[in-house]
Amino acid sequence: MSLNQQLSSYMNAGFPILYIDTFEEGKVENTIRQVADRRTICSWSLANGYGEYSTKEQAWLMPPTKDESTELVKVLESKLVVEDELHRTILLIKDAHIALENPEVVAYLKEIAVRISDGLECCVILLSPVVTVPVELEKYITLLENDYQSFEDICGIINQFIAEHELDPVTPKLLEDMAVAFKGLSEFEINNLLALAASEDGELSRKNLALIFEQKKQMIRKSGILEMVPVKEKINDIGGLEILKQWLQRKAKVIQNMKDAESFGVDMPKGVLIAGVPGCGKSLCAKAAASLFEVPILRLDVGKLMGKYLGESESNLRKAIHLAEAIAPCVLWVDELEKAFAGMGADGGHEVTTRLFGTFLTWMQEKTSAAFVVATANDITKLPPELLRKGRFDEIFFVGLPTSEERRKIFEIHIAKRRKQDMAKIKLSDLVSKTEGYSGADIEGVVKEAVECAFADGKDAVTTEDILAAIKNTNSLSVIMKEPLEKMKKEYEQRKLKNASR
Ligand code: ADP
Repeated sequence: MSLNQQLSSYMNAGFPILYIDTFEEGKVENTIRQVADRRTICSWSLANGYGEYSTKEQAWLMPPTKDESTELVKVLESKLVVEDELHRTILLIKDAHIALENPEVVAYLKEIAVRISDGLECCVILLSPVVTVPVELEKYITLLENDYQSFEDICGIINQFIAEHELDPVTPKLLEDMAVAFKGLSEFEINNLLALAASEDGELSRKNLALIFEQKKQMIRKSGILEMVPVKEKINDIGGLEILKQWLQRKAKVIQNMKDAESFGVDMPKGVLIAGVPGCGKSLCAKAAASLFEVPILRLDVGKLMGKYLGESESNLRKAIHLAEAIAPCVLWVDELEKAFAGMGADGGHEVTTRLFGTFLTWMQEKTSAAFVVATANDITKLPPELLRKGRFDEIFFVGLPTSEERRKIFEIHIAKRRKQDMAKIKLSDLVSKTEGYSGADIEGVVKEAVECAFADGKDAVTTEDILAAIKNTNSLSVIMKEPLEKMKKEYEQRKLKNASR
């Protein structure tokens, strides 16, 4: 639902306080004016003080002024004294995170919320770039999120910028490519980036796309929860896991030809859960999927989702989901999924976790956007069973320790990456037979060490013996984690998950 629709339906339904988490005050204020339905907007901001705007006459009844009498506490106090003062108004409070630090403001807002619940025709709208909900107001507040710019909106912003700055017009193809690059950013950010791009050499050109991508990566990182991961890994960098690779290749065909696939009747792919032994290529698969699909990959840091205010964690998750959908087609990589939902057992777990989980499940269930989720997990026993049910993920794969054939491939990949010229002389079968129970990461470690030792010893090639010596020096994962691995294997067999390997 667009912000426009959300605002008018919540307002008409008599929700007392709406909290909009946004950087774009100007844009949101315009939206509020559009949906105000001839009400008066009483607005307050830290910088400009208090003013009243009639949406019926589309003019200020009282332009904003800042003095002692327009301090927020005084304004609220006076509104509460006179019975009709708040009738058919929208009380718009900007910089809400600062305003709400004052307990008197909180108390007055609570009083207003109670009156609205009793039938007063008024709506309080709080605007702030961060979500801070005081406990006293929790049950009166509904959090809304600013919607992201659509492709058409972004083209409009670019064209407007060009017109305002009297720049040379850009070709339709460049306009389209720039608009795609700007997906997921706010109007404010887009205008800033355009200004930066234009200041380089006085025009907008294809050269600027790299700058836009670079800046976008940083902005996404600043959002704190998502990170755009650079991808070099290709599907051929994964040794083994043939079933999973084939499955991803099939999805790639759908994602790259979405329109044809849809009209053929193919459902939009939702995503995949890859669970299993650490160091065996789960993250590698997430990244390789993105390069196979030829889309960007956004990593969700579940550790950072948890916020200290009520509703903040869900709001963070919704923000991340929203951003991923705005950037789609993309891969949304939820790394260490079990961390987000740890402690959610049969007893339902912690309340915040439960709600967070609910938000995620509902999204997965109803998702129709091309944000393909790749969730990776080391320990599936910590995940709530609902998540494993059909309909959430398209498939759940189990990744175990590599078989001998897979170990051969993994050795090949990592040796070829570093010492292709030595490949022909290395006896892979010797290495394979000595590495039962080693993970892919263990094997990579062995090759790295052998190459480094050979160099340090002044040798001009890496031999089978060098690698065998490195194997001797390395404890395999199955030795280090014997018990947990056995337990995990049983668990996966019990759940009859699809094996990623042949
Ligand atoms: P995890 O399963 O814990 O996500 P990763 O995918 O991060 O493991 O693997 C760590 C590293 O080990 C990879 O970057 C890669 O170099 C190596 N590796 C693991 N499995 C494989 C594999 N099947 N093929 C090639 N390299 C692998």
